[in-house]
Amino acid sequence: MKIFAPKYYTEFSCIADRCKHSCCIGWEIDIDADTAEKYRRMTGAYATAVLDSIEPGDPPHFRLGEGERCPHLDEKGLCRIIKACGEDALCDICREHPRFYHDTCRGREVGLGMACEEACRLILSSDAYAEFIPVGEVPDAELPGFDAVVCRAELYRLLSDRDLSYAECRKKISERWEVLPSDLSDEAARELLGELEYLQEERRERFQAYSSACADPENTEALRRALAYFIFRHATPAESEAEFREGVGFALFCERLLVSIAGPEDLAECARMISEELEYSEENTEAIRFELSF
Ligand code: SF4
Repeated sequence: MKIFAPKYYTEFSCIADRCKHSCCIGWEIDIDADTAEKYRRMTGAYATAVLDSIEPGDPPHFRLGEGERCPHLDEKGLCRIIKACGEDALCDICREHPRFYHDTCRGREVGLGMACEEACRLILSSDAYAEFIPVGEVPDAELPGFDAVVCRAELYRLLSDRDLSYAECRKKISERWEVLPSDLSDEAARELLGELEYLQEERRERFQAYSSACADPENTEALRRALAYFIFRHATPAESEAEFREGVGFALFCERLLVSIAGPEDLAECARMISEELEYSEENTEAIRFELSF
């Protein structure tokens, strides 16, 4: 079956040493079983350094160094494993990041996670969020019966309707799926945000500035694209109407949080931060979705 991706996907390539928020800092990198076996059999000048850097466990992972840096990240921000052994020597997580996958009744979809600085730049600068193109093939798999793609297309039509203001688009989306601000009061949302786990503790207070009624910025183009991304990532994997509604609720919640904490200068950085803290933490995503799931 085919793999589809938003059009901007093909423009992505890691900016490596030019990245200010390298994914090789601060994250524990798990090593999949096949790669762990490959590392055990590896020979060559860099093999010992790779083996010595592995913390055994289930799964094993690279032992982070000073400043929580991956031990294979050099002073220029480049990967020593790639330099010494080539890209084929990377473990699955390093090879795939920042890609994510889900299945729809039309086939598999792949996207780029907004926690990645370069992915975030592409997502917030592309208006082609509704355009999906084939980017590969995988063996056939059982696909969900629920057609989330057609539900998403309807929301994207609303989002790109230039006869509506951005606030009207958002209202129509929330009304269409009956995701109402009263589902989660601002007070309850702030309390919930205060209880989540954070990679960077100082963000806890910042995220508690959440207000569903905060005013939209003058330029809402990047916000439309951010909301389209959140719908793509969180509503499209739905296997039922109830799950789709929950995904739309999560997407609107992330969008309101973004408007609540971002200024005109740091919208992209705040979007990246929300992705890093909420989307990339299963616990946080589940905690928020649970509150929205009635
Ligand atoms: S966050 Fe993205 S751009 Fe930065 S190092 Fe990781 S993959 Fe590359």
